[in-house]
Amino acid sequence: MLVAMCKDGLHVSLFNLSYEQALSMKRQKWYCPACTDAVLPKIGRKIIPHFAHYPHSTCSLKLQGESYMHHEGKNDLFKFLVSAQHTTQLEPYLITINRRPDLLISQPHQKWVVEYQCSSVPEDNLIQRIEDYESIGLESYWIIGNEENHTGTTIRFKKFQLILLRYTPSVGYYLFFYSPKTKLVDIIVNPVAISQSVFLYTNVRTPLHQQTFPFSIYSVPQVNMNHFLHTWFNHRNKTICYKVKSTKSYQDAFLLEVYKQGHFPFYLPLFIGIPCRHSIHFHTHPLIWQYYIWTDSLLSTTSCTLLVIKERMKERIRKGDIAIRYFPLIKKVSYEQAIEDYLRQLVHFRCIEVGKDSSFSFKNVSLFQVKEEDIHEQKKEWINNLKNWLI
Ligand SMILES: [Zn+2]
Repeated sequence: MLVAMCKDGLHVSLFNLSYEQALSMKRQKWYCPACTDAVLPKIGRKIIPHFAHYPHSTCSLKLQGESYMHHEGKNDLFKFLVSAQHTTQLEPYLITINRRPDLLISQPHQKWVVEYQCSSVPEDNLIQRIEDYESIGLESYWIIGNEENHTGTTIRFKKFQLILLRYTPSVGYYLFFYSPKTKLVDIIVNPVAISQSVFLYTNVRTPLHQQTFPFSIYSVPQVNMNHFLHTWFNHRNKTICYKVKSTKSYQDAFLLEVYKQGHFPFYLPLFIGIPCRHSIHFHTHPLIWQYYIWTDSLLSTTSCTLLVIKERMKERIRKGDIAIRYFPLIKKVSYEQAIEDYLRQLVHFRCIEVGKDSSFSFKNVSLFQVKEEDIHEQKKEWINNLKNWLI
């Protein structure tokens, strides 16, 4: 931490002190503003001067962990906010919730806490912190620490990182990263899951000093749709292969259901398992949740309303056949919008029809075996269809 309390209760920051000034602080006693235990000033020429709890301390703030990257990134963000004329406090201790965010920004009509999160922490811990801030009317703004900037076309998220996803209708889904080493902000925009933890993504990169607060996403780079859809369908196929070849395939609830219905996993039509907007809310692969929409609702002899389709999906979630993700910073959209987008696509591509009463009915589309050569043709057709739909 960069702020500690001296004997008379005054909070003192190590921010922007010269090495000599910081060194002189070693002569005094310092205390943690939260647990009031003594803390040790750590001063060196190569490190950011900071205070540290003693090893035996059980203070909850100590347990959040503070690495070199964390100190450096927090310092950079503080400097950036102050130079952009934001009223910013470094590590304020919020006594009512026993929390000490990295930064607190006070604007005339809104207060924000900014957290620079570098270490892996359990998801429950992050959710609790976000809820604690909300309970006293603070919106939290999370920036993830990364050593290096992102390169390549896929990204593997750690669990705690994905929890911090945000959403705005004009941009979609996004996550902030900042590397103190390169001083660059990476905004990962619209990550699309191709397996449980690997995502395709686009990246908006800006030097921190060129940013504004809240961070702006000036322009989202165009996605190469051909490449994206080919990768998508390759991974869809890999998912099926992986399931079928797994030694536990005889226990796989999805496969068992496919066989029970008389379908064949490799020959399921390509409109089952297509990318759609908001599908990041599902942890389960689209192949599975979309298949269940068909077997539970669309293949039934009577037409189904959207409400009924959603109810049947809820039942699948309750039973554990489908898993969804929880994003505490996203309030207005959920997996239900993914279901709606999927149904809109099916209507648009004439796989199902909407009746006058807004209920969906199954058209004469076969879910049964197709010939190997037809799959190749179908794939070309669907890549063309989806290209226009997703842009
Ligand atoms: Zn403490």
